[in-house]
Amino acid sequence: MERTLILLKPDAVSQKLCGKVIARFEEAGFTIRGCKMTQLTPEILAEHYAHIAKFPFYPDVEEFMKSTPVIALVLEGEGIIEKMRGMLGVTDCLQAPPGTIREQWGSKEEGKNKMCNIAHASDSAEAAEVEIKRFFASEELFDY
Ligand code: ADP
Repeated sequence: MERTLILLKPDAVSQKLCGKVIARFEEAGFTIRGCKMTQLTPEILAEHYAHIAKFPFYPDVEEFMKSTPVIALVLEGEGIIEKMRGMLGVTDCLQAPPGTIREQWGSKEEGKNKMCNIAHASDSAEAAEVEIKRFFASEELFDY
């Protein structure tokens, strides 16, 4: 069993799509181990997005990610890290394959299509471990 960190981004929150996205995760058989709403700060975003901080679009990403609270989830399932990246589709919603979450609900608007893409998911087991600790204390995760 593997765990992954999901953030439902401000475009999911503001369009009231969180329930639909979470339904997709549950229909896929994944188990919710942790769930909370949180307001991201420049500090936590600088950590979480350290790998893109050098790019000219980073200030826009920071602004976007702070624009509403986000919903953070820890989900568990067999091979979930790879399966979830497949369910989301690639970063650019215009390139995301049909039926993926980013294709279905992400922005198709020029200039927003690579940024407003509904959800973050950890891209490796190593990243998942660090990201889960970044957003959840151990007592906020539940075995049941
Ligand atoms: P992913 O979320 O698909 O793993 P990255 O880790 O490369 O993508 O980038 C983190 C986030 O930064 C993306 O999900 C997206 O919101 C934003 N982003 C990435 N590339 C761009 C870009 N070229 N222009 C605008 N925003 C971007």
